[in-house]
Amino acid sequence: MSKHLSRLVFSPTQQQEDCIHLSIEQQHYLKRVLRLGESDRFIAMNGQGKSWLAELKEVKAQLLELIDLKTELSVNISLITALPKGNGYEQIIRCGTELGVNCFIPVFSDRSILKPSNNKVERWRKIVTEAAEQSERQIVPQIITPATFNTAMTNLIPADSDRFICVARGATVPLITCLQQITQPNIVLATGTEGGWTEVEIANAISHNFQPVSLGKRILRAITAPITALSLVTAILEKREM
Ligand code: SAH
Repeated sequence: MSKHLSRLVFSPTQQQEDCIHLSIEQQHYLKRVLRLGESDRFIAMNGQGKSWLAELKEVKAQLLELIDLKTELSVNISLITALPKGNGYEQIIRCGTELGVNCFIPVFSDRSILKPSNNKVERWRKIVTEAAEQSERQIVPQIITPATFNTAMTNLIPADSDRFICVARGATVPLITCLQQITQPNIVLATGTEGGWTEVEIANAISHNFQPVSLGKRILRAITAPITALSLVTAILEKREM
């Protein structure tokens, strides 16, 4: 049943017992975009792991029953991405959400100096929320405010993590081989920008316990590489969980 119902993420501050006070934007989405009427049902998600069957009641939604959804992977994934040109990062976060990322960490690197505005970060959060609704995630992934690659490695990743940096050239180990040996509750993946990582960045990452890995003999675009790496991670984790 719940498969065919539309999904809406709300903020925990909107909830009062078994009722959600809908924002004007959410009312517009439910009534005008989804064309739901009074007493129609949808799935309301708090973005932090809980979902309810909900019923539209004018400017509110009545939470009817908790839904036992289990769509999250058993390992927490952080994706460090050197910010690509143009709107490339939007594609990465949309696909990354579908593929199970928990935390997006956009970084400035030696060859990526793009400084996104605050508006852009807000826009990214909206994209990720929509992608989480669409892909039936239980949580809405977090997007960290852009930082330097060094700050990300020093402060923004979990201590208990298996860490991989994708490098386009050089005889490194295939990512899939390394994924068969992961032991930690967190995985951190790092992919570079169009210009790739510099030798200094790769050496710095290795000193932070990152394993350099390959995604094959061809050079993938900055957008294709994280999606490819994440597909391998989900494939391995899903298989392990069966
Ligand atoms: N211009 C660079 C390539 C950059 S590709 C060069 O010519 O060397 C953009 C990013 O995608 C890289 O930094 C890396 O993180 C990832 N990537 C692309 N192809 C890859 C591959 N075959 N293996 C591992 N990572 C790859």
